Amino acid sequence: MLAARPTTLLFTLLMCAFCSLGLHTITTEHPDHYLNEIETIAVYFPNSEIIKDSQKECENALFSSICNAPYRIQKVVLDAGHGGRDHGCLGHGSKEKDLVLKMATRLGTLIQLVYPEIEVIYTRKTDVFVPLYKRAAIANKAQADLFISIHCNAMPGNHVKVRGSETYVMGLHTANENLEVAKRENSAILLEDNYIENYGGYDPNSSEAHIFMSMFQNAYLEQSIQFAQAVEEQIHTHAGRRSRGVKQAGFVVLKHTAMPSVLVETGYLTNESDHRFLNSRQGQQQMAESIFNAFRKYKIEMEE
Ligand SMILES: [Zn+2]
Repeated sequence: MLAARPTTLLFTLLMCAFCSLGLHTITTEHPDHYLNEIETIAVYFPNSEIIKDSQKECENALFSSICNAPYRIQKVVLDAGHGGRDHGCLGHGSKEKDLVLKMATRLGTLIQLVYPEIEVIYTRKTDVFVPLYKRAAIANKAQADLFISIHCNAMPGNHVKVRGSETYVMGLHTANENLEVAKRENSAILLEDNYIENYGGYDPNSSEAHIFMSMFQNAYLEQSIQFAQAVEEQIHTHAGRRSRGVKQAGFVVLKHTAMPSVLVETGYLTNESDHRFLNSRQGQQQMAESIFNAFRKYKIEMEE
């Protein structure tokens, strides 16, 4: 180590003596490397103003190179809704929990295939019950860049004609219809053993609780909407399904996440056409591809 020092020292000193701009260029290009060298030189020339200035420049350059490091999406959490004792909506001979798991798995496979450098984290990979707060906790613990929750919708009563996808972001819901969807999805917490402790007495059937809760997640609203719009666009153009647009509502699972988050209602199991599509392998693949295409678009936009 000592043998290598004089050569490097001499080179740096020469650069410094002949041209201070040269040193400047070097320090800003490779601040981490040259900071070490300058610190070594400083031992020999403790009072040199040039050395002190260079050291300061280097530290500034290192700081700015760290701060200006380009943003890259590194982790994505895929959340297949429901599971285990929580079946979700029911279609004719199918359960939401099974259909969404298949779509989430297909989506994850696509992401890993095209972007092997991205870590795909599943909140569940099998038919198990996972409390809503735990799903968000998994994403927060991983410090994920994006949270995608996948669900199927249902319209109770005689509204069998209602069909299409909706992608939700957390927010103050204005339509009663949105509130009903959020309440239904949130009611999964009633199946949890300690839901009163886990959610601070939150009652999924109370409208006031939903309005209060929707004040959160605002920090990531813009990105969440950007991704949600891409999802709805792709479901319409790629999968050829009806898009009912981007909506806002107070979903517990979205409220607790600290990153851009969306909840995709892929279609209505109470509608024959939607159910047939979502219950088929081709439909599940097309839905996964649509969300993947949206992800690809969002990734490009975020990493610009
Ligand atoms: Zn659901």
